[in-house]
Amino acid sequence: MNSISIYIHIPFCIKKCKYCDFLSAPYGKTVQEEYLRALKQEIIEEAEKYKDYTVKTVYIGGGTPSVADPDGLCGIIKKLFACYRVEKDAEISMEVNPGTVNPDSLQKYRKAGINRLSIGLQSTHNRELELLGRIHTYEDFLEAYENARKAGFENINVDLMGALPGQSLTDYEESLKRIISLKPEHISTYSLIVEENTEFYKIYGEEKEKIERTGEGFGILPSEETEREMAALAEEMLTKEGYRHYEISNYAKEGKACKHNIVYWKRRNYIGFGLGAASLFENTRFTNTKNLTEYLKNPVGKREVEKLSVKDCMEEFMFLGLRMYEGVKDSDFIDCFGKSMYTCYKDVIDKNKEEGLLTGSETLRLTDKGFCFANYVMAQFLL
Ligand code: SF4
Repeated sequence: MNSISIYIHIPFCIKKCKYCDFLSAPYGKTVQEEYLRALKQEIIEEAEKYKDYTVKTVYIGGGTPSVADPDGLCGIIKKLFACYRVEKDAEISMEVNPGTVNPDSLQKYRKAGINRLSIGLQSTHNRELELLGRIHTYEDFLEAYENARKAGFENINVDLMGALPGQSLTDYEESLKRIISLKPEHISTYSLIVEENTEFYKIYGEEKEKIERTGEGFGILPSEETEREMAALAEEMLTKEGYRHYEISNYAKEGKACKHNIVYWKRRNYIGFGLGAASLFENTRFTNTKNLTEYLKNPVGKREVEKLSVKDCMEEFMFLGLRMYEGVKDSDFIDCFGKSMYTCYKDVIDKNKEEGLLTGSETLRLTDKGFCFANYVMAQFLL
């Protein structure tokens, strides 16, 4: 039997972080209740379509799923288990933020079947957390982490951010050290990207290097060179501690790579439920409405449908697949498209091999240097 993955979007946050351009709305008790009702309806009504598929991973993301009422959220999980064939050993992840969980809610999540937590920490320095507009302190995180362990979570990811305004290499190193000492199974470390429509964009805009506003509590964004030094430092420190660098921004202990995200990078079928949630099913992408009122009115209503062309699929195959350390296999490319990736991309592959950014033949992957210039490499795979 074929399998799918399921993503569930909870779009509420207590406060918008200054760097965030995710689809999230302010939290309110009533709207949250209405949303969970609509979500349940969508999950139930869509079940028939996927009755011949097993579910191998579920990911509850946001927004901040842990701001939702824990009983309401567990009700959603229960419904999912009731309506879909969720595999016995399925990975069921949930994003939580420190400051929004307590021993009781964590135990409820665990009991409901969630077996992997992803904790959005971002930094262990309170001044950086404040700068980012996070609602929690490092101490809140430590409490949440300990409570998660006590509730029985044996698979925990911690999110960290680098290249923050005013952040030095030593600041970043300290955060990494502190997180490593807690021994989470998985660590994601991303560089800050100043996206449009964020508070940070108003401050830094496109001319990020030129702007210095230390007097107002903002530092300069680290240079690209410092950013690369941070990435190299993470690689060195984390691999020394037994974490495998399995994707550009992700490190995991043996057997703890995030199965759900691998589904995205390998372009397997996934179905998204909730506001603005995207799905990829048999090379068709569909996206739920991003309008909350519209979604609440009709959660199985309007969807944007995009049938991907062969060209789209090839591009995605390459630039998503190359994100992973294991890279892409030519035999898989042939299975999908009936021809070798070398017929479509020979020049790009040769050029990047010459520059020391790609390596391999049947299996093509980024080199260590290639990981540092991943965006540059991947952009060339757009046909
Ligand atoms: S908690 Fe996450 S989703 Fe919510 S505003 Fe902050 S970064 Fe965005």
